[in-house]
Amino acid sequence: MCFRLLFSSLLVLSITSMAIAKPLVIAHRGASGYLPEHTLEAAILAYSQGADFIEQDLVLSKDLVPVVLHDIHLESVTNVEQIFPDRKRQDGRYYAFDFTLKELMTLNKHERTDAKGNQVFASRYQGQSPFRIATFEQHIQLIQQLNKQFNQKIGLYPEIKSPAWHRQQGADISAIVLNILRKYDLDSSDSQVYVQCFDFAETQRLRNELGAKVKLVQLIAENDWNESTTDYNELKTSAGLKKIALVAQGIGPWMPQLFDIKKMKVTSLSGDAKRLGLHIHPYTFRKDQLPEGLDVKTTLDLLFKELEVDGVFTDFTDVVVSYLDAPLANSNR
Ligand code: CA
Repeated sequence: MCFRLLFSSLLVLSITSMAIAKPLVIAHRGASGYLPEHTLEAAILAYSQGADFIEQDLVLSKDLVPVVLHDIHLESVTNVEQIFPDRKRQDGRYYAFDFTLKELMTLNKHERTDAKGNQVFASRYQGQSPFRIATFEQHIQLIQQLNKQFNQKIGLYPEIKSPAWHRQQGADISAIVLNILRKYDLDSSDSQVYVQCFDFAETQRLRNELGAKVKLVQLIAENDWNESTTDYNELKTSAGLKKIALVAQGIGPWMPQLFDIKKMKVTSLSGDAKRLGLHIHPYTFRKDQLPEGLDVKTTLDLLFKELEVDGVFTDFTDVVVSYLDAPLANSNR
């Protein structure tokens, strides 16, 4: 009798906790809504704002060290053109891969700018503090140390950037990143790590050839972004999603792929992915770049109540954390 009671209350407990399992807040490039993206300072701020995971986009330096940068190019987030004016390639761009780690460390990092040098998000950070590029290992060590100090388990969410391009330069970025994860004993299915990539051939390679054990997330772009040779239209079909489910634990779709804002209609993507057991972590919630006609609350209601996503990439960790912490936000979940 006692055991039956205990068992049924445990069952209720586990069902309840499943039903209210909180979605993950993934700090997109750290707290990039407030400080220059991917700096250690932006990671610390995201950590203190209550992120569950902190993202690191990864590219390689000339001496094959993974550094935390969103692009293979440097000029939109650093002062490279002032420090090394002669080091551009024929296309006029400065590539992280052409600089040693020591050289990259001499650059100042600033808010993202466009081709004309204007800040992409005008209202964001405008100070002149000397922020630096940091390595993947520095970010891992920082987060591990903070976890130790605060007795937390905040995770890492690295992205392997442009693997085919790196291969053309003669470097295997996936193998290098995987080795670092293994060095820190993080290449396992139960570590607090998701590895993401836009290139589906590379996601398959990570799992099947390189033997990655860590959780993988397949990012989904639009074909006309030329992000990789992957056919994203095919990948979004249920047949494509089935292929993803063979190697990955989740998908990272662009928000408009989940919801057609003009028709005010949910697409088939989230339902199809859920049926296959894939987690859904869309990108990117920004309070200064909301979907047309929606405000902060309606956008977050759409993501968490209508689509019931499992997590979201955001430049504004604090906004999503306070939404999810508000009792009313979860009342009809
Ligand atoms: Ca990313």
